[in-house]
Amino acid sequence: MRWSKTFIPTLKEDPQDAEAASHKLMVRAGLIRRLSSGAYIYLPAGLKSLKKAESIVREEMGRSAAVELLMPSLQPPELWKRTGRYDDIGEVMIKYTDRHGKEVALGPTHEEVVTDLVSREVRSYKDLPLTLYQIQTKFRDEVRPRFGVVRSCEFLMKDAYSFDVDAESMERSYKTMYDAYCRIFDRCGLSYLPVEADPGLMGGTVSHEFMVPTDIGEDRIVVCPSCGYAASTEVAAVKASAAAGQSTDPKSPEEVRTPGASTVQDVSAFLKVKPSDLIKTLIYVADGEAVAVLIRGDHEANDAKIKRHLGARSLELANEKKVEEVTGGAMGFSGPVGLSLRIVADNAVRNMAHAVTGANEKDKHLRNVDPGKDFSVKEWIDARVITAEDPCPKCGSGIELKYAIEVGHTFKLGTKYTEPLNAMFLDDNGKQRPIIMGCYGIGVNRILASLIETSHDADGIIWSRALAPYEAVVIPAKKEDEKISREAERVYAELAQAGVDVILDDRDKSAGVKFKDADLVGFPFQVIIGKKGMETGSVEVKTRSAAKPEFVKKENLLGTMKGDVSPPQNKL
Ligand code: ATP
Ligand code: MG
Repeated sequence: MRWSKTFIPTLKEDPQDAEAASHKLMVRAGLIRRLSSGAYIYLPAGLKSLKKAESIVREEMGRSAAVELLMPSLQPPELWKRTGRYDDIGEVMIKYTDRHGKEVALGPTHEEVVTDLVSREVRSYKDLPLTLYQIQTKFRDEVRPRFGVVRSCEFLMKDAYSFDVDAESMERSYKTMYDAYCRIFDRCGLSYLPVEADPGLMGGTVSHEFMVPTDIGEDRIVVCPSCGYAASTEVAAVKASAAAGQSTDPKSPEEVRTPGASTVQDVSAFLKVKPSDLIKTLIYVADGEAVAVLIRGDHEANDAKIKRHLGARSLELANEKKVEEVTGGAMGFSGPVGLSLRIVADNAVRNMAHAVTGANEKDKHLRNVDPGKDFSVKEWIDARVITAEDPCPKCGSGIELKYAIEVGHTFKLGTKYTEPLNAMFLDDNGKQRPIIMGCYGIGVNRILASLIETSHDADGIIWSRALAPYEAVVIPAKKEDEKISREAERVYAELAQAGVDVILDDRDKSAGVKFKDADLVGFPFQVIIGKKGMETGSVEVKTRSAAKPEFVKKENLLGTMKGDVSPPQNKL
């Protein structure tokens, strides 16, 4: 490819609407442009990288005996009603009414469609196991589209679905996909980490999320440097510390006025007590039933753990009206004393003494409240998010908390979809049984964005060779010099012939601009053709991840490019 013939509109300035480094660089390097909120155009160089990521995914799916199909984006919402997910997904699903008055959805994911297909086509155990996948555009009306293609409303997903006769066989299909994911992300040059994740309603068996640690990540993970344990904070267990025993100085609860103070911060400032002396009483609605959850003031409630404990399909914080209805007091002033509601409490609350909590009355709190004495709890559970001060759930050493971008997930679904959609098979005894399912997603756009987010410098992107739009750029240092120009053409042709994905920067621009653009777009190799090199039969080669260019004998150029120029993997 000749730069003058393609379309890589690089920019000197960062786009105003971009916060994340990857977003800024993808725009500046001429890879993407914003069309509207959450919708991006892939320009030719961006599309090349996207296609390279897609090819790696496709190859590794193929090596894992997964077979590709393509399902429509237009989906009948009735299928979603049959699995009960129509209500769960809510506003995220983009829907419209067609000219015949029928509701149509734009697929946010395809579990329903693929399971419906399998329910109609798979009959017997002889047809299984089967893993189907597609690489296709998904639509989601995200609450907060951000960071360019990291969270957009239209994005490319690889979604795979495995179908097995029993749990044991499903574990094998799962492991095959898990291994394929590791190969995919390794080949892409991503610094990723598979972490244990929330298994959802399935319970029991572990699911995994493939995470790329970075400060812009919207997910949080726990990593133990000592034993290698890695998990999403949604599942990382908090070890309950030994009971502190009852206070030796029993006091009675005392009502105090706290006008307008309804948050932990307000109350602790107003009463001059530490947040850790407060008991937060959160009123949730779980599958329509109100339940109170007690959490120490400085801790964060863990909805995933609470949901699992309750075995609830849906869990949300109660609104003001509901709080008043079930506690008799205003929101922000709830407390467990005298509360006639199911109470679930985090283990850390058990060790509190003389705590402050809401009085179930507007502008009032109670002091000197002791668990066990002033209110009783039947369900002590691990209901909070782990903190950096907690020990590793596996080995007890210190842990680190990090933010991360989820690039993929592997999930054991069991019969969550096959039962409601009647995807059954005849086993070898002639008995009808529901098929056991797994599902596996990869955000293809996120592969690019998370690589750039974790692999760039002040000058631009540092691509892995596998995903760079071009592996090498040939730059004639002085285009108007005919000899240099001819030599650049020769080197360009030699590289192209040898199978290197190369671009020749033949634009009428100064060498300075070309060097800057080469760094910005981030090609792994820059091959610079200049006077000095030509006099000595060499070319200058700069690898994007190395600091300085080196002169290489012409005949050794291809050999230099055989080496590994993947960006240095971040230490995880
Ligand atoms: P998130 O929690 O980030 O919203 P999710 O759990 O909704 O992700 P899945 O439904 O598991 O995501 O989708 C599979 C993969 O698709 C994710 O691992 C992620 O890489 C990608 N993905 C999900 N939502 C988006 C989006 N809005 N934009 C780009 N990629 C996305
Ligand atoms: Mg989502």
